[in-house]
Amino acid sequence: MHDLQAPLRPVLDALGITPEILGRRGLPFHPVATELVVAETDAQGRAFLLTPETARAWSAMKQAAHEDGVVIEIVSSFRDIARQAEIIRTKLERGLDIDRILTLSAPPGYSEHHSGRALDINTPGCEPTEEPFEHTAAFAWLVAHSGRFGFTLSYPRNNAFGFIYEPWHWCYQPSGAPA
Ligand SMILES: [Zn+2]
Repeated sequence: MHDLQAPLRPVLDALGITPEILGRRGLPFHPVATELVVAETDAQGRAFLLTPETARAWSAMKQAAHEDGVVIEIVSSFRDIARQAEIIRTKLERGLDIDRILTLSAPPGYSEHHSGRALDINTPGCEPTEEPFEHTAAFAWLVAHSGRFGFTLSYPRNNAFGFIYEPWHWCYQPSGAPA
């Protein structure tokens, strides 16, 4: 079997992410998406990439939320291996230890954001990717309606993956689609 994960070893080594750490966490590997489209562009002109199916589902969900008077926007979507490594490197440089960092961010190769189906969602007036998002009307709307569009909350409280609670992180995985 072709080992998709072998080319990652030098990237992981450079960040101090050992095979022992990976084995202990048992995170699923997420191959990097090959087909991506611009799902949304923010006020600063930053483009957010998702798979075409995810972008379509996001667009329908955002429109439905809008019709209910709720504004949802993307703050993070597809990320490549290099970007994920950079996020972890930045946290190492701030002095966090790798075990703590890996409760906040996945190792390169293991981020759901590589799939092009995951997105971090925010609403105006809320600090992005922070737990208080769970108290917004946007979060309540997502809990009630996102399933209809194929989105699920990936990291609820006390999730088995060992990540912190991420009320902002949703993934498009309609039943039958590869996880
Ligand atoms: Zn996320």
